Amino acid sequence: MSHDFANILFAGPCNRFCPFCIGKELPDRANEENLNLYPLRNQDAFIREVQRLDIREIVMTGTTTDPQLYRHEERLLSEMRRQLPHARFSVHTNGVLALRKLEAFNSYDRACISFPSFRSDTYEKMMGSRIVPDLRSILRESRIPVKVSCVINEHNVHELDDFILEAHSIGVRRLVLRKLFGETRTWDVLKDRIPESHYRDNPVYNVDGMEVTYWDFDRTTSKSINLFPDGTIGPSYLLAATPAFMARSSAIPG
Ligand code: SF4
Repeated sequence: MSHDFANILFAGPCNRFCPFCIGKELPDRANEENLNLYPLRNQDAFIREVQRLDIREIVMTGTTTDPQLYRHEERLLSEMRRQLPHARFSVHTNGVLALRKLEAFNSYDRACISFPSFRSDTYEKMMGSRIVPDLRSILRESRIPVKVSCVINEHNVHELDDFILEAHSIGVRRLVLRKLFGETRTWDVLKDRIPESHYRDNPVYNVDGMEVTYWDFDRTTSKSINLFPDGTIGPSYLLAATPAFMARSSAIPG
């Protein structure tokens, strides 16, 4: 199987505090801070591996932090574009800095924003802050395609219908509803609708022109390589199943 994408992972203090943060699944040494570092640990070896495997999708994301907190965001991106001219680059972010770092945000090819609720009470339970990013303004100012990724748990599942309506009304065109890895509960997602298609076994719905995917990691197979903050280059889609770490399993956000 060829590789679907390559992840560049950042670690350090985050501007949100999600109880389900993927970084908690990894050993501390994998989360060695790299927010002020240029070049990243093993950056050149990672690029050579991406070239060797001819991977065309590169994702900037985090284990314990938001990739837009990386100090050298634009420098790294332009260097990667120089060395990987055929690749597409995306950022998987919580969106907190998108408006403040709009030029950097718009310099990716596309973005995925983790956004579980429009309501500050719910948002706080899931992201550890009452300050909800202004998704409407982000979409208005964005010059790149933006996908919204919404983790579902007991805090927001009851407001999902309203969430979908509001997302549609502010201009979201691609929405992913995401079960957390290891989640044993099943959620009644869009139960009155028939999927229009499936993507990697996940149902895809058309809600008045908005594409809504119910993403279930447990049934998903993807293949990626990952540049961890400590410089480890891991071959596993399930980050914590990286042979160098062998901790509990988890999956890349997004
Ligand atoms: S925004 Fe992402 S990196 Fe930050 S705490 Fe939440 S899950 Fe972790």
